[in-house]
Amino acid sequence: MDEFSFIRSIQQSSYRQPSVVKGIGDDAAVFRTSGKTLVTAVDTFVEGIHFATETMNFKQVGYRALTANLSDLAAMGARPLYYLASIVVPSWCSLQDIEEIFNGMDELGIKYDCDLIGGDTVQGKELTLSVTIIGEVSEESVRYRQDVQENDIIFTTGTLGNSAIGLDLLLGHTKTYDLTKDEITFFIERHRSPTPRLAFSHGLGDVKRMALNDISDGIASELNELATASNVDILIDYEKLPYTKTKTEIPASKLRAAILSGGEDFELVGAVSTDEWELVEQHAKNLEIPLTKIGVARAKKGDMPFVILREKQIETVLSATGYNHL
Ligand code: ADP
Ligand code: MG
Repeated sequence: MDEFSFIRSIQQSSYRQPSVVKGIGDDAAVFRTSGKTLVTAVDTFVEGIHFATETMNFKQVGYRALTANLSDLAAMGARPLYYLASIVVPSWCSLQDIEEIFNGMDELGIKYDCDLIGGDTVQGKELTLSVTIIGEVSEESVRYRQDVQENDIIFTTGTLGNSAIGLDLLLGHTKTYDLTKDEITFFIERHRSPTPRLAFSHGLGDVKRMALNDISDGIASELNELATASNVDILIDYEKLPYTKTKTEIPASKLRAAILSGGEDFELVGAVSTDEWELVEQHAKNLEIPLTKIGVARAKKGDMPFVILREKQIETVLSATGYNHL
């Protein structure tokens, strides 16, 4: 592969962000912003661990990798500005394959007005894509995990477990599933092209305090992160957790695992005071984003914070891995 022609092929003809002074083409990228609070995150996507080329095409690989980054920014309340992409290319990959990966990222770049300003291209054994994103946020509306307070409403956007069910379908572990064609297409599409919830977390500047976390590892894990960072207990009602209803229900144990531990839906889970709930609810309604109250935060009862799952009036501790401990 000719590295130089490859770099030329992925270089944007113009930059969407006027603050880019130098994008691709020098030893490093240069951007200039004045007095902004900047936010940055990196995510690495390795073939065989985070994705398989059997279940995703190259474009979807790029799309998914940048989605993970955009979702991290959404969870901070930030807007994306630029990203850098480092790629390890194995010998079996063609130039066209790699360009497709970048097309997948560019689709999101166009949608969310952010620019590819640099990266690195090297040869190696496993196809690996590492994306670094840079965004901005106004100081008053950074959404930290540590900001959950007692009596807050705990909420989630969207529905949980769609991506995990989609992956299960793609991997063929589905002998016990009885889904319609449309349902199968829906779940697979949610696995391949989840929506980063940037629209939800923007435009909530009037909300004084809100904690947010994006669901990448499963809501059980993200709830534990919120509880730990904020030093409060979080009480969740299992029956309130939103999921996609199907004509024939997915077997209960599969559905439960997908809802509690299925990551990569990239929904947002968060906390807000009862006073500000209505504002958040109205905002979600305007955007037609489903928003569900799933529980409350309360003072921690033990010496460490716990996530408690209430199911048919029985309360158990929900671990980060999604298991209940009595
Ligand atoms: P250097 O050798 O100085 O590190 P490179 O030859 O690696 O420079 O890169 C040249 C330019 O191309 C730089 O602007 C770099 O950011 C960009 N670039 C290289 N690989 C990628 C990539 N995978 N994605 C985006 N930009 C890239
Ligand atoms: Mg280099």
